[in-house]
Amino acid sequence: MSVNSHLNSVRFTDEFNTQYEKTLPLISNFYSDLGANKDLYQAFKRVSQTELNVQQQHIVNDSLRSFELSGVALDGAKSERFKEIKEQLSVLSNQFSKNVLQSTNSWKKTVSANDLKGYGADEFSKVKKGDHYEISLQVPVYIDLMTYADSSDLREEVYKAYISRASDIGITSKEFNNRPIMDEILKLRSEMSELVGFSNYAEYSTQSKMVESPDAVIEFLNSLIELSTPQAKAELIDLESFAGHPLMPWDLMYYSEKLKQKTFSFKSSDLKPFFPESSVFDGLFETIQNLYNVKLTEIHEKTYHEDVRVINLEDNNGVIGRIYLDVYARENKRGGAWMSDYQGLYKESLPVAFVVCNLNSPSEGKPALFDFDEIVTIFHEFGHALHHLLTKVPFPCAAGISGVPWDGVELPSQYMENFCYEREVVNLISGHWETGEKLPEELFQKVIESKNFQSGLQMLRQCEFALWDISTHISKDDTYEILSEVREKT
Ligand SMILES: [Zn+2]
Repeated sequence: MSVNSHLNSVRFTDEFNTQYEKTLPLISNFYSDLGANKDLYQAFKRVSQTELNVQQQHIVNDSLRSFELSGVALDGAKSERFKEIKEQLSVLSNQFSKNVLQSTNSWKKTVSANDLKGYGADEFSKVKKGDHYEISLQVPVYIDLMTYADSSDLREEVYKAYISRASDIGITSKEFNNRPIMDEILKLRSEMSELVGFSNYAEYSTQSKMVESPDAVIEFLNSLIELSTPQAKAELIDLESFAGHPLMPWDLMYYSEKLKQKTFSFKSSDLKPFFPESSVFDGLFETIQNLYNVKLTEIHEKTYHEDVRVINLEDNNGVIGRIYLDVYARENKRGGAWMSDYQGLYKESLPVAFVVCNLNSPSEGKPALFDFDEIVTIFHEFGHALHHLLTKVPFPCAAGISGVPWDGVELPSQYMENFCYEREVVNLISGHWETGEKLPEELFQKVIESKNFQSGLQMLRQCEFALWDISTHISKDDTYEILSEVREKT
């Protein structure tokens, strides 16, 4: 199923999705029955009273909690209802992702070179389609447009198309509206949590997290908001006075880039030629080898898409894991970047991870050239993959990322990001695509200096997402109203 779910995310077709959707209830019901099996639960209880090592203890305790959260204590109609809700949720969450993907693909616009004033050669080459230019809502295209297009009207149009994807407003097709799906998911999650004795889904969810309670989450977010707001306000005032007029949402990235250029006297795009794909990955692999004494070797094997690279991880005794690396943005691929678990370490079976990003691809006579943010993303996702692959735990439910609380799972990935800002590492990952030159010291210093540019605004943006998420899983109020309240605050 992890393979099917991966393919459905990165190589979406209606045909495949239709079959995939048919399997979701089967899988959901299988796990529901397993989680509701009272005999098995009692067996785990008996095992928990025997002598166990620390790994076994952890796994048994995790399993007992998982039985309880799966409604093992429920009987009759309540147990049936719990199972039914789980099944509906698995189908609804797939529909949600499908709508976002199809809505993203449903909008395109043909423009002239004149409409794209402000673009450099690199941005132009990404949207060239024969003798015209085509704008889409794919992330690399969207980011370029919001950052570089001088035309405020065009930015407004594309911004509105992008943020209103899969909704009942905006210009992308209304048939992909996720509003009713969101409402239904929230309602079902709340009912499910109440069935097993919690007052809301946030409380249910934090049972299996490191954080103690939803209150602790809210307190943490509120303190971040309080501490970041003065800085964010100052950044916004700076930006508005630089632009010379009040800013609309579609102006922010555009003027931010210009202000960054003025403040640090360099353009983000100055960095790109120094970071062609091959240098970045060779350098990353060498960094990993230096840190963990393991080797990454590309092997050539046919996969589900020609863009996918197959990479074996080896230690002194041979292969210990594998990564399927799928980096470029393309149509029929879900947006964002993530690592997912193909399989975990268990006996003879080695851990395998999918690393997926939506980054710049090669264009007309040029290799893929990465933005600095994209390089940070790659390091981040490889941090997840290493977490999964370098495991020594001999039990599948606690090996790699399995069984790791979801609010702790970002530690290895965040840790890997830091290496992007080390001169030694930048020497390994940079090499001008034409001359081979390493990133000059002057530009490297600018990367370091500008690292925290507008970090107050960025922090508030993340707090908005997180606070909305936790709040809407506590309250039964309309989720858009809750979002408005959160936005007021952030
Ligand atoms: Zn992550």
